[in-house]
Amino acid sequence: MTSMTSPPCGYPLPSLLSALVLVLLGACAPSAPEYHRSLYVFGTLVDVDILGLTPEQAAKAVDAVETDFQRMHRDWHAWKPGGELVALNEQIAAGGSLRVSPFLMPLLEQGRALYLESDGLFNPAIGGLVGLWGFHRDEPSGGAPPSATAIEALVQARPGMNDLKIEGDRVASRNPAVQLDLGGFAKGYALNRAVERLRGLGVRDAVVNAGGDLCVTGRHGERPWHIGIRHPQGVGVLASLHVHDGECVMTSGNYERYREYEDVRYAHILDPRTGQPVRHVVSATVIHEDGGRADAAATALTVAGPTHWERIAGRMGLRYVMLVDAEGRVHMTADMAERIRFQGQSPEVVTAAQAE
Ligand code: AMP
Ligand code: MG
Repeated sequence: MTSMTSPPCGYPLPSLLSALVLVLLGACAPSAPEYHRSLYVFGTLVDVDILGLTPEQAAKAVDAVETDFQRMHRDWHAWKPGGELVALNEQIAAGGSLRVSPFLMPLLEQGRALYLESDGLFNPAIGGLVGLWGFHRDEPSGGAPPSATAIEALVQARPGMNDLKIEGDRVASRNPAVQLDLGGFAKGYALNRAVERLRGLGVRDAVVNAGGDLCVTGRHGERPWHIGIRHPQGVGVLASLHVHDGECVMTSGNYERYREYEDVRYAHILDPRTGQPVRHVVSATVIHEDGGRADAAATALTVAGPTHWERIAGRMGLRYVMLVDAEGRVHMTADMAERIRFQGQSPEVVTAAQAE
């Protein structure tokens, strides 16, 4: 546990950019004391910053969040044995059913809704494919990609979230090829829950930041929280923006996690229609008050790519979207364009259209 005071005005960007995407930018130091702690969960560091509480109160609040995170990590995990999701996947594969706790059920329900809204581009039922590509392990497997036949067999089996049969608290699947993997949106959902938990414990101003994905509550002193989005193709900050009370910022990128074979990178985000890793988009950033939706949308828009993102963003009701394509060009909604401030040399902005 560490605590720190807020940086003074004009503080340069922190050099310790553990996050792939995002850092808290210096803001005028608020007068309230600031508390900081890093938690290790979901295979990443989660930084919690709290203003306005005594260190003792803040430590207690972060303890509660940490306990929640540990349960989420265990019960929502896609492949580590001992958790509820893994037990459900076992039942589904065997043609059975499982009584699901109120802790997991909302993710299945929201996952199904987001699957439908994204035209199936966000599809948490493709755990079989994610595993086949070697991403169901802490370090993605190396070696040659899986065989085209194995990929095709899973794609043809068409696992989808509307295969789930939810009756009361009992869950089964009409399709035994469904394997649930909540990795595309559980983090956003969890960060949102963490901020809600903090609020419930009397915290007004805080940021919970998991390697660049974050949710905020309240403000940073006199101003809204101010963050930087790291350049997906290099070092430094691409853009900065203010994040308002209750908002979450989620970024997906095919640079975040990948395997490599003969100089080709295979990203961890898969196109459910082809079973292949996404190649076109470098990153997609979404701001929304619902962290699960923002996270799912960032994954879906990475799959949709520069040509189709606007339609999916419109279907998912997103106001604030930014994509950076493989050529470093920026595509975004008009509302996002109004909030973003590029740092240094501005990139080429190809689209600044309102999602329809
Ligand atoms: P994210 O970083 O939020 O884009 O999530 C990526 C993770 O979501 C991957 O590591 C997989 O576990 C899972 N995933 C991959 N492709 C998809 C997809 N098309 N829809 C939903 N989840 C996916
Ligand atoms: Mg996501």
